[in-house]
Amino acid sequence: MPQLRQNIVTGDWVVIAPERAKRPDDFVTADTVKHQSRTNCVFCDSKEPYKTSIKKYETKNIYLTPNKYPAFVENLKKCSSRSYKIENEFYRMRDSLGGHDVVVVKDHDKDLPRFTRPIWVDMLNCFKKRYVYFDEHCSNVYTMAIYNHGSQAGQSIEHPHAQIFSSNIIPNIISREIYHTERFYETNGECIFCKILEHEKKEKIRIVYENKSFLAFTVFAARFPFETWVYPKIHRSRFENITSTEVHDLANCLISVFGKLDKALNDPPLNFFIHSLPNTIVETDYYHWHLEIAPRITKYGGYEMGSGNIIDIVSPEKSAEYLKDISIKE
Ligand SMILES: [Zn+2]
Ligand SMILES: [Zn+2]
Ligand SMILES: [Zn+2]
Repeated sequence: MPQLRQNIVTGDWVVIAPERAKRPDDFVTADTVKHQSRTNCVFCDSKEPYKTSIKKYETKNIYLTPNKYPAFVENLKKCSSRSYKIENEFYRMRDSLGGHDVVVVKDHDKDLPRFTRPIWVDMLNCFKKRYVYFDEHCSNVYTMAIYNHGSQAGQSIEHPHAQIFSSNIIPNIISREIYHTERFYETNGECIFCKILEHEKKEKIRIVYENKSFLAFTVFAARFPFETWVYPKIHRSRFENITSTEVHDLANCLISVFGKLDKALNDPPLNFFIHSLPNTIVETDYYHWHLEIAPRITKYGGYEMGSGNIIDIVSPEKSAEYLKDISIKE
């Protein structure tokens, strides 16, 4: 059973999950992982460990299955997510409960920058279904859909797949976002995300892509070269309240943005993740769900690791200028 342990100096939570290191491909070098064939693929060939896995949901383009090595364990009978102290009441920990899904794209060879619109629509609708499902779980506090593209971005199985984490804690970054956005709302009476949308649309120097429902732009205080945020134009706190029109518009937006990043940076390793309101907070005026894209083309040095302050070597305005002019067929 993985454990959630709290760093009592910073307040941050970590998951200690040694079971996950049992994965056979865990210590394989990046190049070997890159060339897994269909006949040697856990998601294609139904080999172990996914041979007996249950497909919880399936469409023409994707299927959903539980992660065999979950970081958060789904246990419908266990609700308590309370933390407790161990080692003579010194350190704080929790059982790591919630859920951990894999959303597998059926086509082995379709990697993220080449997803078709139907793949995106099926994947986003699947995310939505699981957010709604986990909302009902007594142990769920937070749901986050993520994608790892490229071994430098944490992808360990070459076959394209997203993951959905349901956790019994609010992730560290989300706690910080909520703290600051709530303070901004108390002082200014407005949603900071809506204000950012308004500002970026006016300044026009960081916009990468725009359609009726979404704006994609590089980040003023970017942590990585080409860091890009995708905001829905309509204020909504929760991802699961996305409409079907918005799902289609988001699919078009992501085809374009990932296509641009692919062309500009020659298929860079990257992650994307969805930030939405914790399950424990009702719909708010201050928090606005969004999707963040983190290209992983630079590594952190000692200063970044030691200070948490990032030195980004590419200007966000220059990256936007570069991406904006690349045309992608939606
Ligand atoms: Zn495969
Ligand atoms: Zn807003
Ligand atoms: Zn965020």
